[in-house]
Amino acid sequence: MIAFTAQSLLTPNERVANPLILVEGGGIAEVRARNAGESPSDVRMVDFGEATIAPAYIDLHVHGGAGHDVMHTDGDGLARFERSLTSHGVGAYFPTTVTAPLDATLSALENLADTIEAVPSRGASNRAIPLGIHLEGPFISHARRGVHPPANLVPPTIAIFERFWQAARGHIAVMTIAPELDGAVEVIEHATRRGVCVSLGHTDATLEEARAGISAGARHATHTFNAMRPLNHREPGILGEVLTNARLSADIIADGIHLDPAIVQIFLKAKGKEEAVLITDAISATDMPDGRYMLGGIEVEVKDGKCLADGKLAGSVLTMDRAVRNVMQFAGWDLQQSARLASENPARVTGLKTRGRIEPGARADFVVLNAAGEVMRTVIGGHES
Ligand SMILES: [Zn+2]
Repeated sequence: MIAFTAQSLLTPNERVANPLILVEGGGIAEVRARNAGESPSDVRMVDFGEATIAPAYIDLHVHGGAGHDVMHTDGDGLARFERSLTSHGVGAYFPTTVTAPLDATLSALENLADTIEAVPSRGASNRAIPLGIHLEGPFISHARRGVHPPANLVPPTIAIFERFWQAARGHIAVMTIAPELDGAVEVIEHATRRGVCVSLGHTDATLEEARAGISAGARHATHTFNAMRPLNHREPGILGEVLTNARLSADIIADGIHLDPAIVQIFLKAKGKEEAVLITDAISATDMPDGRYMLGGIEVEVKDGKCLADGKLAGSVLTMDRAVRNVMQFAGWDLQQSARLASENPARVTGLKTRGRIEPGARADFVVLNAAGEVMRTVIGGHES
């Protein structure tokens, strides 16, 4: 048994001073204040001193990092990528595809399913864990495709969704779709029945079309404001719904490039600490020098923190710890509120029961932070890195 302690703990709903977290077999057995009882005698104490322990971050939209792209198969690259996630406080992630030719998508889904199914055989490791696939494209709008290749966009059909589902062996956890496309409502209903978290994104939907998607089962929105019909005061479009529907969660890329800090503030005021989620949308160039990188089959030029293809933004090199610090800086939110947008909220959105919170029965996945939100250490399944 291992006991972790630090100056404080964010569960994240509560702040516990001088906490003691007892961990056994990779899971949390007990959480309490250090002085609230005797420590069991047979434990190894790990003391993080002045730091704060918070639930490890969860990224539900990430394409790669450390030179690795999740649609390409490379075991060493995957390990490097997952270690780089851990170094930024991420304990679990949802590898995200981009639109590609059908065959390339199907084989990427098969390979990602292999990766996910191989996790239990990895043993203790300091690598972030892939939990499910985020399918971004091909069911997206030509008008709001961003850099997704137009030739590979396809109208949504249950038949094509099922080909993806079978290739992924049921591991599709999140799907971004434009609800206004012909056939989208049926596919949203079908995917929702399959247990997929359907997210509205890369969309030119009107207010009514967005509402129809939500009625069909969509419950989240992908990189709000980016690749979305813009807000207009007489034609609010999908953003009118995303920003006012209290039951809809939504995510943003808070890198200071995709959204002006003022827009981040507007978003946070609208969605609040319960429904706002941080994603990175990071690509293989993350944690790498400037240069040319791949995003699926798309070549991206990275310079000064900006990823461009064809003059358009093509993902980011944002890391989750920086996204949390940016929320603190852009909106004046405290560490507790900001960190929650990267842990409890994405866990709830994706239906994770044992992650995103520090409580008995949860996995022992923590990020150890200083007061500025910088990562001192990450613990995955009780294993320190
Ligand atoms: Zn993306």
